Amino acid sequence: MLKTDVLIIGAGAAGLFCAGVAVQKGLDVILIDHASKLAEKVRISGGGRSNFTNIDLDPHQPSKHFISENPRFCTSALSRYSPNDFVQLMHAHKVPFHEKHKGQLFCDRSSEDLIQALKMECEKGVHGAQVKRIQPCQLEQLNYHDHQTPYYEAQTDQGTLQSQAVVVATGGLSIPQIGASDLGYRLAKQFGIRVTPTRAALVPLVFEQQAWSSFASLSGLSLPVTIQTGQGKHAGSFEEDLLFTHKGLSGPAALQISSYWREQQSIEINLLPHMSLHEHLLALKQQSKKLLLNELTTHLPHRLAQTWSQQNPDWLKSMPDLSHKSIQNISQSLQKWQLTPQTTEGFKKAEVTAGGVDTRDLSQQTMQSKQAGLYFIGEVVDITGWLGGYNFQWAWSSGYACANGLANQLNKL
Ligand SMILES: Cc1cc2nc3c(=O)[nH]c(=O)nc-3n(C[C@H](O)[C@H](O)[C@H](O)COP(=O)(O)OP(=O)(O)OC[C@H]3O[C@@H](n4cnc5c(N)ncnc54)[C@H](O)[C@@H]3O)c2cc1C
Repeated sequence: MLKTDVLIIGAGAAGLFCAGVAVQKGLDVILIDHASKLAEKVRISGGGRSNFTNIDLDPHQPSKHFISENPRFCTSALSRYSPNDFVQLMHAHKVPFHEKHKGQLFCDRSSEDLIQALKMECEKGVHGAQVKRIQPCQLEQLNYHDHQTPYYEAQTDQGTLQSQAVVVATGGLSIPQIGASDLGYRLAKQFGIRVTPTRAALVPLVFEQQAWSSFASLSGLSLPVTIQTGQGKHAGSFEEDLLFTHKGLSGPAALQISSYWREQQSIEINLLPHMSLHEHLLALKQQSKKLLLNELTTHLPHRLAQTWSQQNPDWLKSMPDLSHKSIQNISQSLQKWQLTPQTTEGFKKAEVTAGGVDTRDLSQQTMQSKQAGLYFIGEVVDITGWLGGYNFQWAWSSGYACANGLANQLNKL
């Protein structure tokens, strides 16, 4: 039997980072993962270049970039380990990176640089402390023994492991092909910790086949739009690129809005976000003799305008022949395009899982749950970031808060 201070389950972004911080506080760590490859999701992230943080993140406005039943929960961890702290770590490891768009930082070369940096942090143990990584390793059972010195005992296919604390860093349900599982939620339930309903997020939207048939031929077309859905505190609104697919909508605009979208809810898209189309067309009615279709192809991609014109014969009228009512309808259809997705592409294609371990049962300071010595970090928690590096920052910040909490619990500070 192997004994350790801390058992971390899941060697992904949060687990690996937490192990590195903990060992540098003198804690012995065993890190297990059922996948044979290390941090595979980090490897494929950001198109292979990991968008590892976002410098626009404001910890004091958590609802701006994070979705949760309680977005305020993440303020404490995000303030104590910020995007700038992670940037310093990347500098220390001489990982070259660049800002791409809206504060998003990506590795210049590959995600492998980030994984190597995280691995090297695990080799910096103090006072003889070490991270022992066991992969692949399947957890079969986890039990808590409430003795004078309480401990956890984990039965695995690689033997029995005993630890004073357990960190669950098993991530969400997205991309089961590379190791995602529901273990984290099952462990939470086993110890009486609440779990909010999970759903695929940052995921392409799918429309009913018949309804989408006229747009399916636009597959591959991309354009900047504004997109919105929801009401009140559940409302989301983005200005991003939208990509048409055979089944529906993807690209950053659709991925972002998918995190706010709920079944049967409609979304609204403005295909011409930087103009008042109504006013523009009213002016053109006086000035131009061209067909509406020809006027609109100066503002919209040609293929998109063609598709739209097939649905409304007014598009083939010349400007002076258009009625005011028709101008109003056409403007509305392009600038307040209402549509209701049938579903999403689900966990197979989602970048993240929304919902998860209920923050009401966790400490925002340490990530310890109401079950003594049991911690939850990263995506398994009901904190979901926007597209753009926010999810990794949550993995780092929650992992850091947890490692400090562990050091405190085990008197290593
Ligand atoms: C295609 C894609 C691209 C992405 N790009 C970005 C990006 O550029 N920027 C960004 O911020 N976020 C990105 N994300 C999201 C980001 O990868 C995750 O939010 C982040 O990895 C979560 O970290 P985590 O440690 O909680 O989970 P993970 O990194 O998923 O790690 C969980 C680990 O737990 C292990 N595990 C699961 N079940 C078990 C089990 N039963 N037993 C043992 N081990 C288990 C898994 O094998 C895995 O190694 C992307 C996601 C995807 C799918």
